[in-house]
Amino acid sequence: MVRLKQKLHQSNLNKKQEFQEMEIVTIPCLQDNFSYLLICTKTGEAAVVDPSEADPIRKEIKNQNVKLTTILNTHHHWDHVGGNKELKSDYPEIKIYGHSSDKGRIPEQTEFLEDGDHVMFGKQSGEFLYNPGHTSGAITYLFGNTAFTGDTLFAAGCGRLFEGTSDQMYNSLNNLIGKLPENTQLYFGHEYTENNLRFALSVETGNTKINKKLIDVKRLCSSGSFSTPTTIADEKQTNPFLRCNSDEIKRVVKLMDPENDLTKKEVFRALRELKDVF
Ligand code: ZN
Ligand code: FE
Repeated sequence: MVRLKQKLHQSNLNKKQEFQEMEIVTIPCLQDNFSYLLICTKTGEAAVVDPSEADPIRKEIKNQNVKLTTILNTHHHWDHVGGNKELKSDYPEIKIYGHSSDKGRIPEQTEFLEDGDHVMFGKQSGEFLYNPGHTSGAITYLFGNTAFTGDTLFAAGCGRLFEGTSDQMYNSLNNLIGKLPENTQLYFGHEYTENNLRFALSVETGNTKINKKLIDVKRLCSSGSFSTPTTIADEKQTNPFLRCNSDEIKRVVKLMDPENDLTKKEVFRALRELKDVF
């Protein structure tokens, strides 16, 4: 398991800086899904992001000797909520968060998030971004400079448009997630990075950052490790869906529509269509 210590920054009224430790454990599930166990090291309480299935989560809870109090679902797809029911039967008091609009679609949901709501477990307090596009209820969880993006943003890619429009996804990626600080750590829902980077390279062959990351990710994954998390800084350099202003991408995409000058949203739409058949 990959363990990352995350120091979450919280300032208090005395302007003294206090650091509350949250530990993040990546748990691979199913074929290529990632669940994440978030541990509040002050209290020994834990939350799990998108439990695809119960058993690997149970195993890690035992391993870490923590108490699961919370499930954080980024959206209602079965590969992100598959463990909800069984974990609820293990921990009947568990809180299960999701967007308010996912009511009836997230099994056993108890918390229905609306604008301005907070997400709490142990001594940790987080927020969320409502970022429709992949689904109509998709959200990203935020704890300080750590974000859990589900199937909205992947390293070098984004989720398919199952329920949202291309413009909604453009907005979610570029005007919401993309506006987070450069050093934000982004933990995403699937290990698709190598394929995403190959696509990124196909529309931007001159981007050496993509090439370099592809080599790094291949090495990581072949050694049994994972490509999660990424950062905003990295994504701005390598993710075509955050690079709709790139001259090379615009040129490649314009070949599909040589008559017209494309807006960034049109470039985005064309990229998503190209990726669907890549
Ligand atoms: Zn999904
Ligand atoms: Fe998924």
